[in-house]
Amino acid sequence: MMIHKSRFAPSPTGNLHLGNARTALFSWLAVRKVGGAFVLRLEDTDQERSLGHYGDRVLEDLRWLGLDWDEGPDCGGPFAPYRQMERLSLYGEFFDRLQAAGNAYPCFCTAEDLEKERQMQLAAGRPPRYSGRCRELGNAGRSRFLEAGCRPTLRFAVPRSGNLRVQDLVWGERNFSLADTGDFVIRRSDGTPAFLFANAVDDALMGIDLVLRGEDHLSNTPRQILVLEALALPAPQYGHLPLLVAQDGQPLSKRHGAASLRDLRARGYLPAALCNYLGHLGHHYPDEEWREMAGLVQDFSLGGISRSPARFDWSQLHYWQSRAIREMDEGALQDWLSPHLTGVVPPALLTGFLGAIRENILLPPDAVEWAGRCFGFPFPEPEVQAALAAVGSAFWEAAEAAFVTCPEDFPGWTRKLAAVSGQRGRNLYLPLRLALTGVEHGPELAALVPLLGPQRVRERLHAAAAHSSNSPA
Ligand code: GLU
Repeated sequence: MMIHKSRFAPSPTGNLHLGNARTALFSWLAVRKVGGAFVLRLEDTDQERSLGHYGDRVLEDLRWLGLDWDEGPDCGGPFAPYRQMERLSLYGEFFDRLQAAGNAYPCFCTAEDLEKERQMQLAAGRPPRYSGRCRELGNAGRSRFLEAGCRPTLRFAVPRSGNLRVQDLVWGERNFSLADTGDFVIRRSDGTPAFLFANAVDDALMGIDLVLRGEDHLSNTPRQILVLEALALPAPQYGHLPLLVAQDGQPLSKRHGAASLRDLRARGYLPAALCNYLGHLGHHYPDEEWREMAGLVQDFSLGGISRSPARFDWSQLHYWQSRAIREMDEGALQDWLSPHLTGVVPPALLTGFLGAIRENILLPPDAVEWAGRCFGFPFPEPEVQAALAAVGSAFWEAAEAAFVTCPEDFPGWTRKLAAVSGQRGRNLYLPLRLALTGVEHGPELAALVPLLGPQRVRERLHAAAAHSSNSPA
């Protein structure tokens, strides 16, 4: 199969949803893998639902994710414009051609007429579809409606019998019965093209030969192919991606806390983590290794797309987020976190601090929390105070005495403390960790102690000792 050009064609009706971000990523990976071109097109003809600023946001979000495009609303291209509302005049010729060939006809049915028809069909136990009533209107009938000021839609005349076979890249061959495909609207009564029509025609005009999109569009495909065949325009290869669902099997929504790319970005998820995560979501890579963009491209395969619904899973996303943090170089780590740490971490200690905590954080607030633990005044919770008290003051005195002899030698300090106190392993490190950080888990103490500096270390050992001497034990 030859592929040269793919596209992402969002409708700017809201923030970019994670499912759509995955569709964009897969389309981009598939075409970049073969060195092909990627197009971004905004499908904004649904004027009631489209909002201009969402278009700009989609571009911004995709760029943030790491995608680029060769043609699009911002950079133009040989088939400009790339916003469908700016392409309205282009569609007229195709409507005319369909009508002249008898493949399309004006329909004067009102919304009420259509609803009545639908109810009757349902009551008779038949699947609702447009009866084709206006197809039979002669010229005289049409003129009557037009003279009465009615503004028709334009419907595509679907052959009354036969089947259409569609070869889908994910689902294989699908067979659609034409008798079950009602005549559908291709131009709204306000003159704007319906989604099905503009989407198919633009793909052909823009030379798109690969379309990956959500499974919810599978049933549109035969209708789009009919339109393209009637216009003698080439159809792309379609592949429909199983929907992205939440753990409960429901479509992923705000309720699940992960609806939009923008939300995740605001919370501090990294684009590289999302690309690795989404790349593995409903697509099989040969292994679970970390991949830079080039690796994601190289190892992507259309055959690796799964047919089962993809389930969003926070723990998987967190796994890739921590991998992404480990892969960041020092500069990138600083760019990411330093805006959150200004005024909390002494500038001279920033690099060391970030190096110490990088394996213990997922999101910027985690870094802020560690900065507070290290450089703020620790206020251990009552359970921590109780745990410190239980250790007994002799241990803390020994700890401080050993520390002052070698404040810059962590292994030396703990060796001495072990010898004097008789404690080792967990019994030695856990109390120290609690006294120095206020929590049981965290970065290597050997890395934290030099950051805290001798004064803070001693203050905290003192504070621990103070709890012990106050305790009845
Ligand atoms: N504008 C459509 C959507 O956002 C595009 C579908 C397609 O990719 O063909 O769902």
